[in-house]
Order: sequence, then C-alpha cells, then structure tokens
Amino acid sequence: MHLTSAEEVEHLLYASMYREEVTEAISILQVHKKIPTSPFRPVRESYGSIRALLDRSRNITDLVLHFSLSLKPICVFPTANVFNGLVALDVNIPHATLASFLQSHPRIEVLVLGPCNNTQQCPLTGCHLPSLQHITCPPSCVRALTIDSHVSEIFTTHDNIQHPNYPLLQLLNFRPIATLTFLTCLHIDIDDTVPDILQRISAVAPRLKLKLTQSKFSHEVYFLYYHGSCHTDNALQQAVRMPWNNPNYLSSWENGLHLLQHLQRFLLRSWHPLRASDNDEDLLVRRWLFVAPPSLKNVVIWTGAWQNLGRLIKWDFEWDSRRRKMGWQKNYEQKASDLRALIDELAFN
Ligand SMILES: [Zn+2]
Repeated sequence: MHLTSAEEVEHLLYASMYREEVTEAISILQVHKKIPTSPFRPVRESYGSIRALLDRSRNITDLVLHFSLSLKPICVFPTANVFNGLVALDVNIPHATLASFLQSHPRIEVLVLGPCNNTQQCPLTGCHLPSLQHITCPPSCVRALTIDSHVSEIFTTHDNIQHPNYPLLQLLNFRPIATLTFLTCLHIDIDDTVPDILQRISAVAPRLKLKLTQSKFSHEVYFLYYHGSCHTDNALQQAVRMPWNNPNYLSSWENGLHLLQHLQRFLLRSWHPLRASDNDEDLLVRRWLFVAPPSLKNVVIWTGAWQNLGRLIKWDFEWDSRRRKMGWQKNYEQKASDLRALIDELAFN
C-alpha cells in the first residue's frame, strides 16, 4: 500500500478495523509525501493512525516511513510490533530511535536511513544485522552497520540529508570497511572538501563498481540553488575546486584512479562540463583512461548534469578491429541542452 495523504492513511486504518483480512494482506507499506511540495505531513496529521495501522499489521515485508523532518524528532519508533518477514526498511527516523526496532529485525537485507542526529558515535553501533546486503546512510554511520555484515552495496548520498557539513572524512579515513564479503558497489556524493578522494577510496574499498556524484550540497551547488544561475563567475570559480579542475589535485586524482587496482566500472557525474568543448572533455577522460587500472572495463561520465541536462558518454575497453588490439572506445553519447529532451538517468547506472 502506498499512502501519500492523511485521508489515505485514515481510510486504510478504518478498513482494517472492520476487516481483519485488510491488515493481513498488507506486505508492502509506504507512507510518505507524494512530491516534495505536497502539503501532507505524516507526523502532525497521521502519526497516531500510522501507529495504529502498524500495530494491527503482521505481514509487512517492505516498510517505508518518511516523516516530516521540520517538526520535533520522533523519540519512539511508531510500533513495538515485530514483523518476522521484514526484509526492506526505508525510514528517516533518528538512528537512536531506530536501534531497538532494528535489533528485533535481523532479517533486514535492504536498509535506507535518513540523518543520524548524532555528532559523536552512531547509536546503531553494535546492531547485528547479519542479512544486510545494501545500505543507504550517512557516511558517518556506514562503519556502525557494516561490522561483521554481508553488505556488498553502500550508498552514501545526500538525497534525504540536507546538511552542508557532510561527514565524508569519517568514512574515507584510510581504514578498510570491514565486511564479511567484498563490496561490489560504492556510491558516494562528493564535494571539493575531501583531499585525495580516490586514494582514500582505494584504501577503504578497493574492489568495486564506483559511482561518484558531485554533491547537491557542495558549495557550488548550494550557490546555484540559492542564486539560480550556473553561469555566474562566482559559480564557475567554485567549480575550479573539484579535483579534475584543480591543478594542485589533478595528479592526486590520476594516481588515485591507478590505485583502484580491482575497479571494474567507474561512473562520475559533475555539475559542470569538465572542459569548454566536447573534444577537450574527451581528451581529459582519455588521459584518465590511460592511467586507469587494467581491471577497469566501463566508464560512464555525465557532465554539465544540472537538471538532467548535459552530456553523458560511455567508454568501454574492448577489441578495436581497426587497430587490431584492445583499447578504449567511446560507444554511447547523449546530449541534452534544453528541457525538452533530458538525459535518461537510467543510462547512469
Ligand atoms: Zn547513525
């Protein structure tokens, strides 16, 4: 069930009170705003009804609860119920409030969390989730959740976490992320404040598909959000800070790429074009491919990616029949310069 308004929550609760089979039948329950500008505020308008609904349910396997973050933080998880089949949980409740619920649901495989609301140690440290395979959470909480786990996919992105001081260095501290299996996918929102980013990633997670997206809340984009133009001198000045644009960091960027000795797939999304012309941009990427580790087979670069515009190129390492040897080929290109034809986001995957 997908509930995006107070009325829908009330209707379902009402139906469940009169027909037992309604709550028996609910396996997927999602409560959140339909769109960011929707007036529905799940905390103020429906918290009691959501609690009543959860207390009556038994068979939930996938649960999504997105509460309004602007109000007082929730201090008690909305139900004391245990859902024996729960495998996927996506909630933006403070981590301290979530700890005991997580501990009683060890079968969770997919976990998506919002802000931690804790500046010191993540309160989820010590939560034993042996089935966990995929987490999306703030960088400062990754290590709390991956100890002795089988997590293979980690996403530390900003979508639900609007905080300019994103604690990336707490994750990228040169200590390997300790899991019982190999990490196969790491997606990190980056900004200009982390020096030697690829060296750090090679130390914490050497064997993976790596996706780097320039953070929505980096200084540059913060500026664009509030001033609405990506062509001002100030915005372009901020763009210079990213490692591929900064002469002081370029060699560190290339050395770091070389250090990722088991990297198979590399995706990079930047808000600005890498260079003024497509040709110069391709030359820069070719230079990276020249120093790339031999394990790397696919590279996807999406630049000028403001509002799904820009240029997306895929490079593959494959047989070049003309030169009769293996080499990097530019196999796929999308360009979108106005809002009528947007870049297909699925291609960046
Ligand atoms: Zn946390």
